[in-house]
Amino acid sequence: MSLSESDQQLIWHPYTQMKDALPNIPIVRGEGVYLFDEQGRKYIDAVSSWWVNIHGHAHPHIAEKVSEQLKTLEHVIFAGFTHEPAVRLAERLLPLLPGEQAKVFYSDNGSTAVEVALKMCLQYWANTSKQVRTKIIAFKGAYHGDTFGAMSVSARSIFTNPFNALLFDVEFIDLPNEQNIEQLKAKINYLSNEVACFIFEPLVLGAGGMLMYEAKYLDELIAACQKHQILTIADEVMTGFGRTGQYFATEELQHRPDIFCLSKGLTGGTMPLGVTTCNQKIFDAFLSDDQLKTLYHGHSFTANPVACASALASMDILLSKETLPNIQRIRSRHEAFAAQLEGHPKLRAVRQKGTILVMEWETGSDTSYLNGLRNRLYLYFLDKGIILRPLGNIIYILPPYIISDADLEYIYQTITEALAEI
Ligand SMILES: *Cc1c(COP(=O)(O)O)cnc(C)c1O
Repeated sequence: MSLSESDQQLIWHPYTQMKDALPNIPIVRGEGVYLFDEQGRKYIDAVSSWWVNIHGHAHPHIAEKVSEQLKTLEHVIFAGFTHEPAVRLAERLLPLLPGEQAKVFYSDNGSTAVEVALKMCLQYWANTSKQVRTKIIAFKGAYHGDTFGAMSVSARSIFTNPFNALLFDVEFIDLPNEQNIEQLKAKINYLSNEVACFIFEPLVLGAGGMLMYEAKYLDELIAACQKHQILTIADEVMTGFGRTGQYFATEELQHRPDIFCLSKGLTGGTMPLGVTTCNQKIFDAFLSDDQLKTLYHGHSFTANPVACASALASMDILLSKETLPNIQRIRSRHEAFAAQLEGHPKLRAVRQKGTILVMEWETGSDTSYLNGLRNRLYLYFLDKGIILRPLGNIIYILPPYIISDADLEYIYQTITEALAEI
């Protein structure tokens, strides 16, 4: 039996209707921006394998560091014990984040990083205040992950439908713009001391459709929150580590969030690892002779040394002198292509931020057509050796930073052809 047939018999894939799923393509090898299947077909990974792979596949430096770590210490319980990769990663990560981040809490992925952030905020209020705050503010269209807390602060959508009754209530607010900013600030003022925290994806809402908004309005929202001691959580799981043009999207802000959630690009897409960082104020709220004020949260693989080693190796590459110029190069190529597409009759919108380029296809109003369009686009690009994963009628490019100009050109040209043909 072929790998793909065995897979079909045994495996349940994520975000996949298994009834009519096409056979999954076995990938046997990765190198740089390319993935190779069993037949030796080459694909450009234009979505960085679900947004995680920032330096290319099977990166030799990361491979070497991970392999060294594997031969030294593969794992150790992280309560009562520590190890060098976890400590070194915290030492390097905290000063890189905007503001004064003081502590790192490790977990496994983006959703767990969000769960930890939410628990930190809710328990902060339980630990420090007689008047307990339980409300959370989040953006309409947000995506913060697939576990229950993360789903609760995410948009109610086809992803969450079967669970909506069990998700906790959240105050969802519109993305800020020039027209509504005063109204949004008024809402924050009105809710004021009922609110524990505000969680947001800075500047770009990923899975919600790669929606973008301006830093200056986010700054105003954070300022409004800070006026009422509402804690703020920057979910940089997707935007972190260079994706939006600087190391972190929040670098564009004047005001500093209390908490950061990181994952995806953290290990260069090599190992699962999540990080929640916080400032001293949050951490101090858990220091007590009262055992009940402890943050009782942890995962079996908390701060796995191999994952931390791959994050350190990824950080070496991120901070090397090639990476930011590469990001700038992709940004200016994207900008030029976006300018070319401006006003295209088949596109409803073109958006661009850093290394992310987004094209929203015109669909008319028929949503069943929309589903058909998604698959047609997906297969069209796959057939041309490009992995793009449209979010409905929205296609986006979010490549590893080492993608060559020639490969970018090939993707742009294929998009131009798709616009003519589909
Ligand atoms: C992907 C994502 C998450 C969830 O991360 P997982 O590792 O998939 O659980 C959370 N927040 C944002 C902004 C994301 O893009």
